[in-house]
Amino acid sequence: MKVLFIHAHFDDYEFTAAGTFELWRRKLGDKFQAKVLVCTDGKAGHHFRTREETGRVRLEEQAASATMGGYESELLHLTNGQAPREACLQVTPDLLAALWKAIRDYEPDYVFCPPLGSDPLAGIHNDHETIAEAVRRVAYMINVPHAFTPEYPADETVSVPCKVPVIVTVYDGYMFGANAYDFVIDVEAAFPLICEMTWCHQSQIVEWLPWVGRHNMAPPASLEEWTTTLRARFDRKNRELGIQGAHAVEVFRVTAWGAVPTLAQLTVDFPAMQPAASNVAALEERLRLWNHA
Ligand SMILES: [Zn+2]
Repeated sequence: MKVLFIHAHFDDYEFTAAGTFELWRRKLGDKFQAKVLVCTDGKAGHHFRTREETGRVRLEEQAASATMGGYESELLHLTNGQAPREACLQVTPDLLAALWKAIRDYEPDYVFCPPLGSDPLAGIHNDHETIAEAVRRVAYMINVPHAFTPEYPADETVSVPCKVPVIVTVYDGYMFGANAYDFVIDVEAAFPLICEMTWCHQSQIVEWLPWVGRHNMAPPASLEEWTTTLRARFDRKNRELGIQGAHAVEVFRVTAWGAVPTLAQLTVDFPAMQPAASNVAALEERLRLWNHA
């Protein structure tokens, strides 16, 4: 099982999918391989550190979280050698090409990415929306060998097919109120580790997020305090989505952008799926129609 998490920023992974990945790792051990691809340089989004320092610190924080979580982390680079600028991410041929290359090189079974909003009243984070749109736009091209060979030169006349992954979207706190979900993973067993991994992102949770004032949080003074804050965030998400119970959960939606799975396959593949809490009947019907079954 190979999974690739693609998102805009350092820390997006920990807040949306880290628990599921951890349960997967516990279930499959060495047979589980995970990579987190961060698509911006992380240099914006701080109020007292310089751009260069912020970018450097964020990269170190992600590396610490990756060691703790047993996953590989990578910063996306465009063909010019630069990571895309945080806050300015746009769907450009360069970005599509870099994503195409990254997905083809890794050949994951599943790709995770942010959701694409459809409600104009919902807030968005520019970079999240761009990654959602870019993954959707590049999805069909994953098995198109020469789609981006001007950027990544190749002139083969015999092409090996590239595996097309199932593409799943995650919860996005920036479009609060407009999120939906198909299935729910109970990640309570991984909650302590999620706390520790998010705690690695000190420049965000202790410094930036309390300052920017959009996240309704005071700076946590210890891991213990942070655990309480994070618990409240998970509880708030459950209330927003109408999910019963006090367990920490992560929620996902299945797209038709890449390969279309069956519900049976998802149930086998995903650890700790909670059918009772999920909208599985609607999902099953949708997947059946998409599979022409
Ligand atoms: Zn983000």
